[in-house]
Amino acid sequence: MRVTMIGTGYVGLVTGACFADFGHDVVCVDRDAGKIAMLQDGRIPIFEPGLPDMVASNVRQGRLSFTTETASAVREADAVFIAVGTESSGGRDGKADLSAVRAATREVAAAIEGFTVIVAKSTVPVGACDEIERMVRDLRPDADFAVASNPEFLREGAAIRDFKLPDRIVIGAEDERARQVLVDLYRPLYLNAAPFLHTSRRTAELIKYAANAFLATKISFINEIADLCERVGADVQQVARGIGLDNRIGSKFLHAGPGFGGSCLPKDTLALTAMGQEHASPLRIVEAVVAVNDQRKRAMARKVAQALGGDVGGRRIAILGLTFKPNTDDIREASALVLIRALQDMGAHLQVFDPVGMDNARPVLGDSVVYCQNAYACAQDADALVIVTEWEQFRALDLDRLRRAMRQPLLVDLRNIYRPDDATRHGFVHIGVGKGGSPASSV
Ligand code: NAD
Repeated sequence: MRVTMIGTGYVGLVTGACFADFGHDVVCVDRDAGKIAMLQDGRIPIFEPGLPDMVASNVRQGRLSFTTETASAVREADAVFIAVGTESSGGRDGKADLSAVRAATREVAAAIEGFTVIVAKSTVPVGACDEIERMVRDLRPDADFAVASNPEFLREGAAIRDFKLPDRIVIGAEDERARQVLVDLYRPLYLNAAPFLHTSRRTAELIKYAANAFLATKISFINEIADLCERVGADVQQVARGIGLDNRIGSKFLHAGPGFGGSCLPKDTLALTAMGQEHASPLRIVEAVVAVNDQRKRAMARKVAQALGGDVGGRRIAILGLTFKPNTDDIREASALVLIRALQDMGAHLQVFDPVGMDNARPVLGDSVVYCQNAYACAQDADALVIVTEWEQFRALDLDRLRRAMRQPLLVDLRNIYRPDDATRHGFVHIGVGKGGSPASSV
């Protein structure tokens, strides 16, 4: 089948490459000419494990190409996926900004020829597919088309695996022809026995938000339990294990830490609360999740300050990890950025290291921080070392070497990747998250 992706970002590029890998002919479109030039030149604009090889092999075999020309890419397509960004509109209500979706819809409407399925891959509020349909009908009363919802659940860092071995595929379509096109596109996954869920468009749209809100709820829940653990002398990792082994609860997304970030959970929880307000059906739990998470990111700076005796003015603080999670270069809404700014406001000097996120962080942080070559350089002369992102390479650092590099042996481990007793044995004061059992002392 002939597939066009509008938007060649984290979702559009991965999805496009994976569809090409299934044997479909895929054209990825982006209005960012620099991104398309890179891809045409064989370079990959994002960090995603496995993606460079998959893109290269499908380009070589003539099934995957890149362009800035929407019209020519859409004309021949059987299915056009809209995979553009839907960030928060910036207003106080947190609604999703659909301007990129609307712009893409107008461009697609102008170009379609023959029966075409327009698929909303972007995360869009309930009713957005109805709006896309109305827009196309108004702009092109002659067009033969149908609109479907096919939300994406892939996780950055494991995106290819998630696409090829998904927990489920949700197809929201009222039109039987549209449903059939999507079934044909995903046929290779049927053979893998991946669960397919056929729903109405509105249900599909809501499934995506409800899923992200639920995941965010688990995170905020365990983070509040972590705070309680610190007060009452309990260990949040053991509490999480104790509840996670109950398979009605499950162990995933129960890792206490510095709050959730990324390009999805923060904006999707906000957009869902806005939807609730708009439809007079408030989502109080999700509203609390958002508030808890916002407070948490700022509270982490106070935690670091407290570990340093309350005053970080003039202190040197090393930050390990800038991306919102490991195995991605995505720093959108990353907890590290909030932490860094808050510590700077308190007068601290920051030195930072991330294995792949530095290039994206530079335009955001500018020259307000010192960028380091590796974890040990980052620790040099620091009064505290703060682990913010649990990259594999931070899990087995040479603690003696780190301690020797630092001015003070203080490890603030916001991901609980070190055992307190291990760190202590190597001469560190270890401050974890929700580790009420291991008393925090200040230096
Ligand atoms: P992104 O910002 O990485 O990519 C979006 C791309 O769309 C950009 O390259 C932009 O230049 C391009 N674009 C915008 N308007 C365009 C137009 N009219 N024509 C052509 N290109 C255009 O965003 P993303 O992270 O890939 O997210 C895309 C959507 O998928 C969002 O709705 C997001 O919520 C959803 N989603 C993201 C993830 C994730 O992990 N990133 C996972 C599931 C769902």
